[in-house]
Amino acid sequence: MASGRSSSSSSTQGSGAHPEPVQRLVEAFAQLPGIGRRTAERLAFHVLKSPKAEAQRLAQAIDQVKSQVRHCGICFNVTDTDPCPICTDGRRDAAVVMVVEQPKDLWILERTGAHRGVYHCLMGRLEPLDGVGPETLTVRELLQRVEHPERNAGGVKVTEVILATNPDLEGDSTGLYLADRLSKLGVMVSRLARGLPAGSQIEFAHRGALADAIAGRRKLS
Ligand SMILES: [Zn+2]
Repeated sequence: MASGRSSSSSSTQGSGAHPEPVQRLVEAFAQLPGIGRRTAERLAFHVLKSPKAEAQRLAQAIDQVKSQVRHCGICFNVTDTDPCPICTDGRRDAAVVMVVEQPKDLWILERTGAHRGVYHCLMGRLEPLDGVGPETLTVRELLQRVEHPERNAGGVKVTEVILATNPDLEGDSTGLYLADRLSKLGVMVSRLARGLPAGSQIEFAHRGALADAIAGRRKLS
């Protein structure tokens, strides 16, 4: 049983299965979401086999994503320019702001082509039991965009906020909290229609169902 333990990097070579540098790469891949031990080993050996230039491109891409990509100062989308290309796109209607939990949700909703406004990424959702309150998210920045047009994309006054948090327990309660705060600022608040199954996640929703949910959004306040 003791032989199954390999987490701490002891000076001896762990299980001894791989040379130390390969082992480090396997460990790094194994930490990625959805990558099990076997897949991590396959990826590591793929890198080992591939031409040096190809492996360097991968290393460079990883390095650059951390050094060059940041969050948009207006909507918190991930971007290499600040403000991001969505916030600076004059063809979009900056008066309509769609609120999502994460930048990855933004990109999924964006692919539906059904939203021609701009976005606001909360960078999470309210999870009181895990200590995630409004101050941990970008709630303050959202309210400021609504209160002060100069803080919004293109200096445009926000007239509608569409809540596109996930249709599950935490997403719904985050939406209700925001609707309450926003309604006091006199802005129209709507929520994606229930085309999405309750308890589901935007990340895994069908593109058509998402487009319907945007088109059929209902007014909250
Ligand atoms: Zn932006």
